Amino acid sequence: MNKKIWAIVLAGGQGKRMNSSVHKQYLLIHDRPVLYYTLHAFENSRADGIVLVCGSGEIDYCREKIVDRYGFKKVLKIVEGGAERYHSVYNGLKAIEEASCVLIHDGARPFVTEDIIDRNIECVKEYGACVTAMPSKDTIKIADECGFVADTPDRSRTWIVQTPQTFEFALIKKAYEKLLSENMTGITDDAMVVEQALGYPIKFVEGSYTNIKITTPEDLKIAQILV
Ligand code: C5P
Repeated sequence: MNKKIWAIVLAGGQGKRMNSSVHKQYLLIHDRPVLYYTLHAFENSRADGIVLVCGSGEIDYCREKIVDRYGFKKVLKIVEGGAERYHSVYNGLKAIEEASCVLIHDGARPFVTEDIIDRNIECVKEYGACVTAMPSKDTIKIADECGFVADTPDRSRTWIVQTPQTFEFALIKKAYEKLLSENMTGITDDAMVVEQALGYPIKFVEGSYTNIKITTPEDLKIAQILV
């Protein structure tokens, strides 16, 4: 049995909030695409293989312009994503035959580090499921439907969630199969799938305040500084 560590790197989104004709994962930070930095981090990590999930019709582009061009050897599979992020994740999961654990990471988070990846792998060995996160620096408020404050959670217990989110392979596959068979909605991250489909506890693992997701034009300016 081939029990290995796999990473799914998601680059199948449209990046509409970037207001750019080029999808955000292909925008350049100092002459290299955002996705280059993300794949570079996993290439130099303990991951044995990477599934790159790209947009519809972008497999050849990703292979030629990113994987081959920069010589990424661990990108063993490139598959197309789907309409929503969770469809893309599921397509990535289907490409993996056997694994001990799977790290699921946003391609648009180029500043993930080897340490963060290591902490995720170690945490999954102990707990089976974890999310990368950082304590919230700001107070978080929950809104009601009319735009008024409904609740203010205790700041010492609010965390800003990042990726990777990492799971035992069998656990995450089962959770996603349940999600799709039961048409669950409102899914924004992978931990939510495991929480809601299986009720399995998820451990927090420390990320970094620089592990930002490139979402809007100002994030790209910050990225130019961070790189
Ligand atoms: O849209 P959002 O910023 O949450 O996307 C997070 C990551 O998921 C991005 O790297 C994006 O490319 C990816 N994604 C995807 N398939 C989708 C939507 C988003 O692979 N349908």
